Order: sequence, then structure tokens, then C-alpha cells
Amino acid sequence: MGKIRVLSEVVASQVAAGEVVERPASVIKELMENSLDAGARSLEIEVRGAGTGLLRVTDDGSGMDREDALMALERHATSKIATAADLSSVLTMGFRGEALPSIASVSEFTLRTRPQAAAAGTETLVKGGKLVAVRDAGCATGTTIEVKSLFYNVPARRKFLRSDATETSHLDRAVETVALAFPAVGLHYQRDGRTIYRAASSPTLAGRVRDLFGAEESDALLDMAEAETGGIRISGLVSRPGATRSDRARQFFFVNGRAVENVFLSTAVRDAYRQMLEPGRHPAVFVHLVMDPRAVDCNVHPAKREVRFRHGAAVRDALRASIEATLREARAAWLRPVQAHVTARLEPRSEADSSPAVIRTAHQPELPRPVLPAPGLETTAPASKAVGTAQAATRAVPEEFRLVGALSRRYLLLEGSEGLVLLDQRAAHQRILFERLQRGVAGGAVASQRLLAPEVFELPARAHETVAVNLDVLASAGFGVEVFGGRSLKVEALPDFLAGRDPRRVLEDFAAACAETGARVHGVGADDAVRRAVTRLAVDIEGARDEREQRALVTQLLACDLPYCDPEGRPVMLQFSWRDLDRKFGRT
Ligand code: ADP
Ligand code: MG
Repeated sequence: MGKIRVLSEVVASQVAAGEVVERPASVIKELMENSLDAGARSLEIEVRGAGTGLLRVTDDGSGMDREDALMALERHATSKIATAADLSSVLTMGFRGEALPSIASVSEFTLRTRPQAAAAGTETLVKGGKLVAVRDAGCATGTTIEVKSLFYNVPARRKFLRSDATETSHLDRAVETVALAFPAVGLHYQRDGRTIYRAASSPTLAGRVRDLFGAEESDALLDMAEAETGGIRISGLVSRPGATRSDRARQFFFVNGRAVENVFLSTAVRDAYRQMLEPGRHPAVFVHLVMDPRAVDCNVHPAKREVRFRHGAAVRDALRASIEATLREARAAWLRPVQAHVTARLEPRSEADSSPAVIRTAHQPELPRPVLPAPGLETTAPASKAVGTAQAATRAVPEEFRLVGALSRRYLLLEGSEGLVLLDQRAAHQRILFERLQRGVAGGAVASQRLLAPEVFELPARAHETVAVNLDVLASAGFGVEVFGGRSLKVEALPDFLAGRDPRRVLEDFAAACAETGARVHGVGADDAVRRAVTRLAVDIEGARDEREQRALVTQLLACDLPYCDPEGRPVMLQFSWRDLDRKFGRT
């Protein structure tokens, strides 16, 4: 007798359920998506017992007549696509016609539904995939689906469920995701009889984020200007620099309304925030992309979580550019009033200081106090000119930041219009130096100091290679280095801020810093990774010695592109708002 037989419908559905219905959260996701596909404007979601007790979604969508209500429970029954060709342009959430029969095969399932035109609704009861009853029911237009005792007949699956707390957090995430994908859809979410949130229809994503996560979180977000590049429309909200989290719980990507995971999208975020993130910190991003559905393949993952882009790199680049533009604009907006003040307040503070006032803009930043050249070194070109202007800038600390004083030699204490600001001097120096390196020798921001006699020496193979592949960036940072055959290097000059140091030690340390920071050799940010390693070499940074130097530091910092964090992403300034302080002292 042959061993191959066709599976019964119920067994086939249970097998499919293994893929579509991993856990209670996947049921809620499928049910909500069906409601949205049916044009619902508002959803009621109710959960009991971490989802194995009850999952119920009620919508005010199109509803189904009796014939459709029965059809919906057949495998591969879908109203959404008819031919394989439709697959390439699907815009609905569902399209496989698998969810309802799969869910019904592993639970006690009730479908109550009525289309607007019909006088009465239909109620269908299914238990473990077997139709138990079909009858008339009085109900409002729309659909309610109730799923009880999930996995009661597949103990193996039930055993695989995690703790109630874990399943609940997956449920919350599933509801949040739909809420963020469709801010215009009203939502009431209850768990064990308690309202978790009731979010009214919102015309904006920002409004929805505020309803879900509160004002404090939504205030820490920047609205991305909606942009269209190469047929990809991008909009959404992203973290202000510095307002990051230790997890990715606030990262949501939507493509044509569908929540997706995709490595190109997460790479775009990481690249846009490079230098702004401390290791282990993540920005919040709520990004909607709208594009030709034919450029996206959603049919990769059974739960449709992963998507594949036809032009992944183009999508990544568009998203990165969009986030970068948002961050740049935010910085400009933040500095505008500060710069207006700097310009207005350039009156000399003391009569003694008569050097001419300099008006700074973000593009003509002053140079930090240069490290004095060690004796025996010749100085080449443009460094000396920079010194004069650096001194002139020392007078201008914007009024928004009143310098209160230094806290040991490490921190500066500033009073800002919004509260107290603590500034880490070392981090500030690193940020300033890093941005000098970005402008480089060509931009007049770094000067090369020639050694009296060139030094030739060997480095171990790995270190030698690290230097050899980065000669261009090193040259722009003020190094005069050449590969001199075999493992030898010839050093003729060092950047001004490393003047007087032993060239061999400097390059060894550079190679070690590259290895440690994992400087990437190719791709976006590779040059910056190398510059980060160079910045680390300036280890002998000292705190400002007097008020003039303190002011110079603040002024130079505020002229930076990213004054909030050092090149490694650590904060440069910590702010304690008046509200925080008052609260801590029990004044409010
Ligand atoms: P799919 O969503 O892939 O089409 P499902 O098994 O999830 O497959 O649903 C099968 C069909 O049942 C859908 O195509 C739709 O016609 C109908 N349906 C399911 N849920 C609803 C609902 N809440 N309101 C109206 N119709 C629904
Ligand atoms: Mg569906």
C-alpha cells in the first residue's frame, strides 16, 4: 500500500497554522489586518489570559454575507487576489487566504458578521477546524471574530508559548504596530478588562504616537519633511539626536502600510545616526515608505514580516538621505537663535582685548586652542592664522548659555534658558577635533607640522596594512605618511594636534584604535571611522584653564555640526530642565 496520502483539510490547516499562527500575537495581527482590508474605521481589541483565553477583534468594516462568511473559512479562499499576476501588485494586508482557516483549526472560533445591506447577520461557530453551527444573528454592520482556547487541540504548540508576560508584550507590540500603521483608524485596546489605550482617529502619525506613548516621548521626535526620491515617498518621525533608547522597541518601518523588517532599512537608520549613537543605544524611528508595490516582494515570510526590495540599496540610500536631512534641519533650527545672539553680542568683554570680532557661522567654525608645537619642529602653512581668530571667538558665548563655571577640570556648568547644562570638556574637545578632521587640511582646519628629519620604521603586518589602506584620509588629517617598501613607513609630518609625539607610537596607536572601533574600510562612514580613530589619538586633552578658554570651548562646540555628542556617540552635554530640578526638590 502506498504511503503517500493527501492530508485532510483540517490537518492541512493545522500545518499551515504552524506557520501563520505562531502565538496569540500573530492571531491578533491577522484579525486586525483583515479588518483594515475590509475598510474598518475603528477597531475594538480585547485580550484575556495572555491571548490563550480570549482574543476578540470587532470592526465596523464591510462585513460579509452568509456565503462569504462560509467561504472565508475555506483554505486559500480570499477576496483579495484572483491570479498569480495580482500577487505582484497587492496592496491589501492579506492575500493568502490562510489566516482564518488556520486560526479556526486550532481554537474555538466564532465569526459574527453583517454587511450593511443585509437585514440580519450570520454567526458561524468552528471548533478545531470543524464547523459546529451557522445561524442568523442580530449584529451591527461589520465583523467580530472571537478566538478562544487557542491551541487547545495542539498541546505541542501550546507548550512552546512563553510566559504570560512575554506573550502579552508581543500582543501589545502587534496592536501598537497596527495603530502606528493606520493613525486614522480609531482603536480601543483592552486586556483582562482593563483599557490599555483608547486612541481616537488621528490625522497625523505624531498624534498617534502621543496617544500611545505619551507627550514626553513624542516631544523627543522630529517630524521628517515628506520627501519623494526615485518613486519612494518617505515620511515619519525620528529621534532627536541624544534622545535614544537602550532597545529597538520604538523602531517601526512600514512599506505601503505594512509593518516590515528589512536589513536595508535598519542599515539606513544606523548610517544616518552614525557618530550620534553610543554603542548599544538606538534611535526611535517611525518611518512610512510608499512605493510601487511591484518593487516590493511581501511574499517572503509566512507572517509577511520580512520584505524583499527589488532595489534595496536605492531604498536604503533614500531613507538615509531623508533622515540625515531631518537631523541637519533640526540642528540648524536649534542653532539659529543661538547664532543670532552670537552675532549680536560681539562687543568685547574687556577693553584690553582688542582683536577684531569674528562672526561665526556653522560653515566657518573657529579652531580650538592648538597644541603648542614642540621645539625642533617647523610649522608649515595655515595654522598660525587660525590662532588669532580662535582668540577672537573666545568672547562669544551665546546668551542662552550663561557660563556658571567649571566643575573640577572635567565639566563646565552652564545655565541655559531651559535649565542647567553640564558639559563634558573632553567630549567637547573630541567633537570639535573630529569635525576639524572632517574639514581637513584642504579646508584649512588642520595644519601639518613637518618633522625636521623624516622617520622611517617598520610596523607589524596588520598595523602596516591599516595605515597603508588609509593613506588618503590620513593625509587629509595632516599626516605626511608614505609606504616605504615591505613593512616600512616613512613619516614626514604629523597633524598640529599631535606635534611633538613619537610618530611610530602615534601610528601604532592609530592602528590599535582602528581595530578597536572596528573602523570599516569600505562603505558609508568609512572615512569618518578612520577619523574617529585619529581623534582618539589626542589623549592629552586638558580642561580649559581660564574663563576665556572655557568660553572658547563652548563657542567652538556650538559651531559644530553635531554638538550634542562626541564622535563615539557619547553625550557632550547633559541637560537638567527647570522642571526636572523643581520636581527633584519637591517644588511642584
Ligand atoms: P486573506 O486575508 O489572505 O484574504 P483570510 O483567511 O485572512 O485571508 O481571510 C479570508 C477572507 O475573509 C478575506 O479575503 C476576506 O474576504 C474575508 N474576511 C476576513 N476577515 C474579514 C473582516 N473582518 N471583514 C470582512 N471580510 C473579512
Ligand atoms: Mg487575512
